[in-house]
Amino acid sequence: MPDAISIDVPPNDLEAFWMPMTANRRFKKTPMFFSAAEGMYYATPDGRRVLDAIAGLWCVNAGHCHPRIVEAIRAQAGKLDYASSFGVGHPLAFHFANRVVEIAPPGFRHLFLAGSGSEAVDSALKFALAYHRARGEGHRQRLIGRQRAYHGVGFGGLSVSGIGWQRAQFGALLPATSHLPHTHDLARNAFSRGQPAHGVEFADALEGLLFAVDPSTVAAVIVEPVAGAGGVLPPPQGYLQRLREICDRHGILLIFDEVVTGFGRLGAPFAAQALGVGPDLITCAKGMTSGTVPMGGVLISDRVHDGLSQGPEAVPELAHGYTYSGHPLACAAGLAALDVYRDEGLFERAARLAPIWEDALHGLRTLGPVRDIRNLGLLGAIEIDGGDGAPGERARACAEVCLERGVFIRALGDTLILSPPLVIDEGQIGQIVDAIGSGLRRLA
Ligand code: PLP
Repeated sequence: MPDAISIDVPPNDLEAFWMPMTANRRFKKTPMFFSAAEGMYYATPDGRRVLDAIAGLWCVNAGHCHPRIVEAIRAQAGKLDYASSFGVGHPLAFHFANRVVEIAPPGFRHLFLAGSGSEAVDSALKFALAYHRARGEGHRQRLIGRQRAYHGVGFGGLSVSGIGWQRAQFGALLPATSHLPHTHDLARNAFSRGQPAHGVEFADALEGLLFAVDPSTVAAVIVEPVAGAGGVLPPPQGYLQRLREICDRHGILLIFDEVVTGFGRLGAPFAAQALGVGPDLITCAKGMTSGTVPMGGVLISDRVHDGLSQGPEAVPELAHGYTYSGHPLACAAGLAALDVYRDEGLFERAARLAPIWEDALHGLRTLGPVRDIRNLGLLGAIEIDGGDGAPGERARACAEVCLERGVFIRALGDTLILSPPLVIDEGQIGQIVDAIGSGLRRLA
């Protein structure tokens, strides 16, 4: 890391900032900070270099502080800081949308913009409801998610999410929701490489659900093509195709939440392309600006767009939008990120590195109490036997060893999560695996 990276000193009093999704009281007793970043690395205030194995929070796909993205944001901030997209326009939002639909799957020619992944998901769910209503099927109101799904923290997204502890504090949420079973099947699929061979029939549970709730009341099924925060669960072979078929049989929209998988994570622009299944709506965020400026989006298929565009021309097609939809700084960052992805061939790089990544991760199989290793594209997970102690504590201990060894990974429950910037090289893959290996050996 060059000397230019400054060292910021955190304040003594950490009380005021109530950190999101964090055990605040615990964190503030033993805080940990990053104060600068570049490429694959974070820097701590005391000047340590830490290899970022999760791209911040699954988002910094082009690597940290990429000079082209930094410069684009800097220039835009001094030129047009803010302009609304409600009834007026600024060119960047249109340029950006054109560029995103260029790399989208066929049949997606429109992009709605939001400020985050949660907003993108809530938007997509609302679009599904509005689409059916526009076609005279307003009775289609049920939304189907999946166990172990993470769709952000808005009321809609949380209602279709399937991670119990994240919902428990908030009561009933949206009433007309149901959940498919998750696809994690250790008995048959442990240590699968890529998409597991078993489990296409988990999709048939959708028929079972529909039997119970009446298919003509269902608006949409939403799934992450690869469940991320639920533990990196690649879809069983044929599973997404089967979901698509069942949705088609019953006139139900299929939404892919690609907040994690969008923008190259699986070696193609979107998982829909990497896995060869076409949804009706695609949500994205994170890699859209390479994590630099908050932004989310919904790619809208022609089917949904045309269905929503039948009303009078003077009336908004959607009574929906955010102050920060199409924010100029986010669009500038997004355009620069797309340039970097293209010019540096980062999606292709992810595809090329995926088998090397897979071999490296699976090399950890015999070390310590490993229960499962999963991978797809540049996503990975190491599931650890939680032992007799508190759930998640062993994975946490392993992540701490990694940090001591200069590698930042994330422990989610008993699973170590990996999702590095797409600029990673083979040496750095080795460094990540070595650090995890030390952590696992210490648990053994
Ligand atoms: N959807 C998925 C699949 C996610 O992984 C996330 C965040 O991790 C979200 C939605 C929510 O995104 P955000 O945190 O930007 O609101």
